[in-house]
Formats: sequence, C-alpha cells, structure tokens
Amino acid sequence: AAISAADLERLEVLGHGNGGTVYKVRHKRTSANYAYKLVQGDSDLTVRRQLFREMEILRRTDSPYVVHCHAIFEQPSGDIGILMEYMDSGTLETLLKSNGTFSELKLAYVARQVLNGLNYLHTHKIIHRDIKPTNLLVNCLMEVKIADFGVSKIMCRTLDACNSYVGTCAYMSPERFDPDTYGGNYNGYASDIWSLGLTLMELYMGHFPFLPPGQRPDWATLMCAICFGEPPTLPEGVSEEFRSFMECCLQKESGKRWSAAQLLTHPFVCKDTVRI
Ligand code: ATP
Ligand code: MG
Repeated sequence: AAISAADLERLEVLGHGNGGTVYKVRHKRTSANYAYKLVQGDSDLTVRRQLFREMEILRRTDSPYVVHCHAIFEQPSGDIGILMEYMDSGTLETLLKSNGTFSELKLAYVARQVLNGLNYLHTHKIIHRDIKPTNLLVNCLMEVKIADFGVSKIMCRTLDACNSYVGTCAYMSPERFDPDTYGGNYNGYASDIWSLGLTLMELYMGHFPFLPPGQRPDWATLMCAICFGEPPTLPEGVSEEFRSFMECCLQKESGKRWSAAQLLTHPFVCKDTVRI
C-alpha cells in the first residue's frame, strides 16, 4: 500500500545536507523505519534544482546497490520530502571513525558493491559526481549503497564535457579541473572511478590520500596536488592485486582508467571476499 506523509512519525535527525535535513522516521502502522529527507519550500533555487535532479534520478533507479526511494511527497506548502530506505549503520566514514581502517579483504568487499552500483548507474547513463565516504551508506546486513544524487548528471549524449565544479573538490579527478590535459576523450563516467579509488585508499590508510593525516587543505593546494602531483600510491606490504586495482582507478588520464564493468573482472574484487 502507498505510504502517505501523515503515516510517518519523526524520530531523530540523521544528518543535515545542503538545504535539507534527513530524519529517521517510523511508519506508524508497520513500525518500519525509513530515512526522510525534507527540503523546505522556501529554499533557494540552487537547492531546489539539486533536489529535482536527485528526485529524477531516484525515480529512475532500482538497484540493490543504490539507496532505494519509496516515495516522494510534494506538499502544498512547497516542502518536498523524499522517503528512502533507512541505512542503519551510517556511512563508510562513520564506520572508518568507529572501527578504524579497513583490511584489504573488507575493502575488496566494499569495492565490489560500489562498483556494482556504479556499473548500474553508468549503464543507465547516470554519473554520480560526488562519490566519497559520506555518500556511501551501510546497513546492518553490511550492504553498501550509493546515496546522494544532488550533483549527479544524466547524460543525454555519449560524450559530454560536463566539467562544471560540482561535487566535493577533494575527490574530483584531474580531468574535472583540467580536461585539456587529462581528458583525452573525456566521458565523465571515469571521474566516478577516480573518486572511488581515492575513497578506497582513504579507508585503507585512514586519512585523505593526497594529504598527511589531520591536514585540512585549501582548495588551491588540493587542486595543485591532484593536477600536478603523481596519483597517491599504497604503502609497502599490500597485495599485488590491491596495488594493481588502485592503479587501474587512479590513472591521471581518464582514458586509461578502467570502467566499472572492467574493474568488476579485476582479481582484487573477484577473489572471495568477507563481509565488513
Ligand atoms: P553531504 O554534504 O554530507 O553529502 P547532503 O546535502 O548530500 O550532505 P545527504 O547526504 O543526502 O545530504 O544526507 C545527509 C546525511 O544524512 C548523510 O551524510 C547521512 O549521514 C544521512 N543519511 C542520508 N540518507 C540516509 C539514509 N537513507 N539512511 C541513513 N542515513 C542517511
Ligand atoms: Mg551527502
């Protein structure tokens, strides 16, 4: 049966985003929990534009690797609510903070799930553009799902120079800053792979790979490191499969990076993996 906004009881706040608040809510009759993202009707145009893009993508997606949207409520007041599946174990960032760094085996398990999600999105011509630890949600079954489509893009053509500065700049690929040098045949999808590579490396090392632990940089320093520096590499002692997998993700030239479909055949993620 369809759920209406009146059936929901608001519990605690799960997080604040750009212009919206995400609540944990409970369905009064079934006691099922959901996440409810509420954006006020009087929010500015940028926020509303992002929200409509997110709604459009959530309506189109149906994958076990992408956070599921149950309903969208558009209130007469102009407020918009998005009812999503509740991911009860938080984000990969909260897991990193609470449990410490991930082992290779756990990372292979995470990588496989996120790659399945990216492969699904890319097949459906959607570029996420903001893959990072806080946008990858986890539940108690240790399923990892891609969330937060506020800055994503639906490709109408195969090639598209969508290099506007949206997303979190730390995880942005070299070609997003400098498409002429690193873009070759820039197709957008490859920048999600770069962000995934950085995300996995951060979960392994415990800090953002381009910077020493604890440092919060300014935008210019970061952009220089990403565009003019070498891609970050793993420390000594990791397996050959892991090192090779990272190199496939973190090629500076987007054309040399493997696609999500190719990476799903890489030995690092094909081996037996354990749940996190
Ligand atoms: P951010 O800048 O952190 O990415 P945002 O504007 O993108 O913020 P969201 O990511 O959509 O906003 O939501 C903010 C936070 O709410 C998330 O970081 C997460 O902790 C929590 N959250 C969002 N969706 C869910 C969900 N389905 N289940 C559980 N928690 C969620
Ligand atoms: Mg987010």
